Amino acid sequence: MASSTNAFEMAQRQFDHVAELLKLDQPVREMLRWPMREFSFRIPVRMDDGTIRVFNGFRVQHNDARGPNKGGIRFHPAETIDTVRALATWMTWKCAVADIPLGGGKGGVIVDPATLSVGEKERLVRGYIDIVWHNIGPRQDVPAPDVGTTPQMMGWMMDEYSKLVGCYTPGVITGKPVGGGGSLGRTEATGFGVIYTVREALKHLNMDPAKCVAAIQGFGNVAQYAAIGFIEMLGGKVACVSYWDRDDRASYTVSHPNGVDPRFLMTITDQYGSIDKAKAKAAGYIIEDGDAWISKEADVLIPAALEGQVNAETVTKISKRVRLVAEGANGPTTPEADEYFKKHDIFMIPDFLCNAGGVTTSYFEGVQNDMNFYWTKEEVLQKLDTKMTQAFHSVVEMSTNEKVYMRDAAYMVAIARVVKAMELRGWI
Ligand code: GLU
Repeated sequence: MASSTNAFEMAQRQFDHVAELLKLDQPVREMLRWPMREFSFRIPVRMDDGTIRVFNGFRVQHNDARGPNKGGIRFHPAETIDTVRALATWMTWKCAVADIPLGGGKGGVIVDPATLSVGEKERLVRGYIDIVWHNIGPRQDVPAPDVGTTPQMMGWMMDEYSKLVGCYTPGVITGKPVGGGGSLGRTEATGFGVIYTVREALKHLNMDPAKCVAAIQGFGNVAQYAAIGFIEMLGGKVACVSYWDRDDRASYTVSHPNGVDPRFLMTITDQYGSIDKAKAKAAGYIIEDGDAWISKEADVLIPAALEGQVNAETVTKISKRVRLVAEGANGPTTPEADEYFKKHDIFMIPDFLCNAGGVTTSYFEGVQNDMNFYWTKEEVLQKLDTKMTQAFHSVVEMSTNEKVYMRDAAYMVAIARVVKAMELRGWI
């Protein structure tokens, strides 16, 4: 197979493979290989020094057969329309596999948010909404946070939209701050969701979580709560996490001989995910090259950073001890690395199943916004656990019954649900 670093090509290759297995009709394939709608636009922003800077923004709506499009907005300097298309496509499968009544969407802006002041960020996110507000809404398309965007930004976006439509509309965006229309448990949701699926996978593999070591890539929102969950919910040990150091423009792996303490590391991590190396070293942590995480002696690997990190080159460095890969990030594994997992009988929980906890809790947030009645954190996390556990077992069942790889099984479950909704609506 040819190597590919384009995330959308990768998403299409994964889809084509399963479309073949499912023998989907040509029109169905055409509908699902491409987004239904996409917007590409310019956002002028007045900077603090009085100049105007123009940012490139995107919103892609992949499929809304099962319900309003749903998915985050990423602020990243390397954002492209193809990355947003890939991520929007994966959101369709994610919502379908989690069995929540939503479709798939994603947005992005080409920007490094760390280079903006608070005021500039606020003007940029309000500017984003001023352009797309006609095309989003609680019954159309509901954005949320993703890499580089925060609950506060969601709060500003919700405010801007509410002003434009003339009424308080919290359901237009999820991932809002608690007290500003947000749901308790949303911050922990993606990372904890990863751990609910890891718990089920370890049961399936007859492995005792308390004896397991995990190596985690990343130390953003997903990785932080996955690390906490692995230790506090499962009783396991986390050998390392990794992060992108803004000052050095390099990534590092941070490990500790006794296992890392994510709650301590969070106290020395800035808002963009950079860990204070000096403080970490003073506390006995070892700082290594950013790729070192993948070759750690571990039973479980949790790539929870960006796309394409586990690829033809890095996958060969994985320790022989690894039995399970849980994809906390979206699209961390390339098709070449998938082949390696298959060959070495490494069990894997595919991204759009593994990290569906975020969007599932976003769905709960929207439900609470509609009811104007809010659940406790325990209620939210309990509902999330039930959904994630059901989703995991529906995929394992498909994988066992059809004797297919877990990623293919997840696609088969998700695609079948989306195709059914398209049929029921009379589209195909
Ligand atoms: N950005 C998250 C994801 O990729 C959450 C999306 C949402 O809550 O809508 O799943």
